[in-house]
Amino acid sequence: MSKNIESFSDFKLNRQILNAVEDAGFESPTPVQLKVVPLALAGHDVLGIAQTGTGKTAAYLLPIIMKLKYAQGDAPRTLIVPPTRELVLQVERQAMELAKYTDLRIAAIYGGVGAKDQLETLQNGVDILVATPGRFIDLYRKGALHTKTINTLVLDEADKMMDMGFMPQIRQILEKIPSKRQNLLFSATFPAKVEKLSEEFLTFPERVEITPQATRASTVSHYYYKVPNLQTRARLLQYLLKDESFEKVMIFVRTKDLANQVFNFIERKIEGGVRVVHSNKAQRSRINAIRDFEAGEIRVLVTTDVTARGHDIKGVSHVINYGAPLVYEDYVHRIGRTGRAFQSGEAITFADEADLLHLMQIEKIIREKIPEKPMPGVIEIAETPFNEKQQIAREIDHFKRKEGPDYKGAFHEKKPRPIKKSSKSGVKKHKRRRK
Ligand code: AMP
Repeated sequence: MSKNIESFSDFKLNRQILNAVEDAGFESPTPVQLKVVPLALAGHDVLGIAQTGTGKTAAYLLPIIMKLKYAQGDAPRTLIVPPTRELVLQVERQAMELAKYTDLRIAAIYGGVGAKDQLETLQNGVDILVATPGRFIDLYRKGALHTKTINTLVLDEADKMMDMGFMPQIRQILEKIPSKRQNLLFSATFPAKVEKLSEEFLTFPERVEITPQATRASTVSHYYYKVPNLQTRARLLQYLLKDESFEKVMIFVRTKDLANQVFNFIERKIEGGVRVVHSNKAQRSRINAIRDFEAGEIRVLVTTDVTARGHDIKGVSHVINYGAPLVYEDYVHRIGRTGRAFQSGEAITFADEADLLHLMQIEKIIREKIPEKPMPGVIEIAETPFNEKQQIAREIDHFKRKEGPDYKGAFHEKKPRPIKKSSKSGVKKHKRRRK
């Protein structure tokens, strides 16, 4: 690829998709997205070796949504097969999020529940079908699934699928769908079984391998504080920034809104100058902010992960993670901003209860423990407001569901809707549907 792709708008995606990406809070593409999206858009078969936490789901969903564009006919045109019910629901949720400004119909089918609702969903028409292998075969045998229009197949977490003994079902699925199609196969690891599957299933695939960059610069010391809520985070931040050794500080936050809030707080309370960088800022303002920060004209740069990947900013004394990153690899990218070129640096993470779970996963990737530092005694711990408590509980629930397929959920969530009934664009489905 000759053109340098850095942001989502550099991909050949339409406005509806870009708006949904923005709403999802994705600031810049992850490495697996940078590689997979253009290849899949160009129609290649792709073999992606990438773990959960790299952004691989959106890497295949975005080109699929782009390719499908709008609702058409009644039978599915894309089939996504993950190994477990939980993963099916997770992929469905992400597909709905990224296709929310289109009228594409997304349906999830999986075992362990009655088939009645799922059958009804299929009858209403489907564009993207997300299915566990067993339930797909069941409903196919019942005559409820029409497979002739399927022209894209995704096998997700293929290694898990093989471990769970799904090879016979996969073979059956391959027999039942048209052989002329685009295939995308994702796997966290690449054992012989998956290699064999990929040989059977992919045609001249483009191979994309993302091994999480797992080495932390040895010049960076890192640790975390347990900080239960936003109010306390702000107090700890203020306390830390009183220390003059924090001379060039990058603060990473997950969303643009939070970036703006932290920026406003620092601007009011802390000396030394501060700027904020995120994807809603014009390119020129971003470049200027980074340049001024590099030149030492401002002390603090608040940013989303737009600047975690890429930009080599020199001489950063401290990186503060205002919460753990959800794309776990970004931890290494973020803290890699400090301790560059043999200078020493410190990376500090503020972690609420949900962040602690993400940190555990990050520890697995970097293969080391991140030490905890006790909260400085002078900091008064604020009460967590109800809304924030709910938000944290929801995130913990989401995490547990993702990690353990059998987790039933402590936080009562609405039953997942099996299909997206309407689109935000307000366009009536029957008008846009084409036969
Ligand atoms: P996955 O590896 O697909 O399980 O994704 C891991 C998490 O990263 C999910 O919570 C996604 O919503 C999130 N995610 C995916 N792509 C991005 C991105 N470009 N920027 C920020 N978060 C992302």
